[in-house]
Amino acid sequence: KEYTSENLSYKLNELPQKVLNVLKSAGKMADDEGYSAYVVGGFVRDLILGVENLDIDIVIEGDAVAFAQKFASQINAKITVHEKFQTAYVYIDEDLQIDFVTARKEYYEFPGSLPIIETGTIKDDLFRRDFTINCIAMKLNGDEFGKVVDFYGGRRDLYDGVIRILYNLSFIEDPTRIIRAVRFEQRYGFLMDEKTEEFAIKAVKSDVLDKLSIERINTEFFYMLKEKNAAKMLQRLKELGLLKKAYPEMELSDQLINLMEKSDNQWEDFYIGLINKKNIDKILIYLLVLHSNMSVDKVHASADRMRLKKEYKDEILRFIEVKDLNLPALVAEGNLSNYDVYSMFTGLSLESLYVISIMFDDRVRDAVLVYINNLSQIKTEITGKDIMELGIAPGPEIKRILQAVLKEKINGKIFTYDDEINFVKNLLEQEN
Ligand code: ATP
Repeated sequence: KEYTSENLSYKLNELPQKVLNVLKSAGKMADDEGYSAYVVGGFVRDLILGVENLDIDIVIEGDAVAFAQKFASQINAKITVHEKFQTAYVYIDEDLQIDFVTARKEYYEFPGSLPIIETGTIKDDLFRRDFTINCIAMKLNGDEFGKVVDFYGGRRDLYDGVIRILYNLSFIEDPTRIIRAVRFEQRYGFLMDEKTEEFAIKAVKSDVLDKLSIERINTEFFYMLKEKNAAKMLQRLKELGLLKKAYPEMELSDQLINLMEKSDNQWEDFYIGLINKKNIDKILIYLLVLHSNMSVDKVHASADRMRLKKEYKDEILRFIEVKDLNLPALVAEGNLSNYDVYSMFTGLSLESLYVISIMFDDRVRDAVLVYINNLSQIKTEITGKDIMELGIAPGPEIKRILQAVLKEKINGKIFTYDDEINFVKNLLEQEN
């Protein structure tokens, strides 16, 4: 029933009442305006699958901007209009926003170009989309509320777990769809149909990727890194040949895939071991892993290609430097002082420390945890002011002395404020 039903009303009671009300009022307004209105794309796909998704896209056969303006003012919501794209974004509250778009037809002038846009019907609008499972629409107008509009066999493919393009040139016209295909495949445990996969491989082998701006690939690539099964997705991109073409520096060995999966699985354990709980940036963790087997030169090239922000790139470079120190041997030898450990790890983000903790053996992991929970928390009691009072003029000298005090303290040789003052006095005496 689920996949053949002509009406989705049997699913609608699973939606939050607020969402249902909003969809109904949009349908009612469409009746009043004499337009047809449809909710489309991921929302409908996930409604049928029973997956929560409150990203609502509404297609209007008519002027979507005027429609959205009227709609927003009726329910007193904020609105942002993109006149050029005939779209409007209505912000209802923090967890509910709606995109309104005028039904449109798209043409590609050349592969990888941005499409040329014209007003069209719902059928045209669905045909410009990526996969059959993403081009099911549900009508919102009063009497037909809940009616399924499925020109391309989307329900069938949802049922069978198939990712299928709508026409043979789809990947040639927009190769970013290959990354999207992989993303949906692994997210839902689906598979591309045989032809779709062949077309993906053919598109990769052709030169269309070279014509595409790297920014567009990056956008889809980062959406992918936000997903739960990102490691599996990368593996698939490698199989299809896209990874090598888009990111030639990346060497996705089995070891790297394992490390990526380990980074998903071990975080909770690591988190339990943290005294000061902090959340982490999962994207940064993946980026660290993906660069963990690169030379410094390659990190530069790769980070630039991925258009990484400076903070990410700098962090990856710091991480590479530390993880190349041969940590297991250093730690195993057992003659590192606390301050040596401190100096090795200081300045690294929690993300880098976490990746280092899962890359090597238990001893390295323990050293990382000692650093985070203990050594990195140690501060001197005295300040620059105390040192100036001992007769040192303001300048870099103060910093050097404070650092010497910190070293002594981290190594467990001094403890109190008085210890610190005495240590500085002795140091100054010796140096004189
Ligand atoms: P998600 O659950 O990841 O948000 P989604 O399907 O909502 O998935 P979006 O990226 O928000 O994905 O895109 C919204 C809709 O726009 C999709 O359902 C799809 O129909 C269409 N779409 C997005 N990108 C493309 C593309 N590159 N080519 C064709 N259609 C696309």
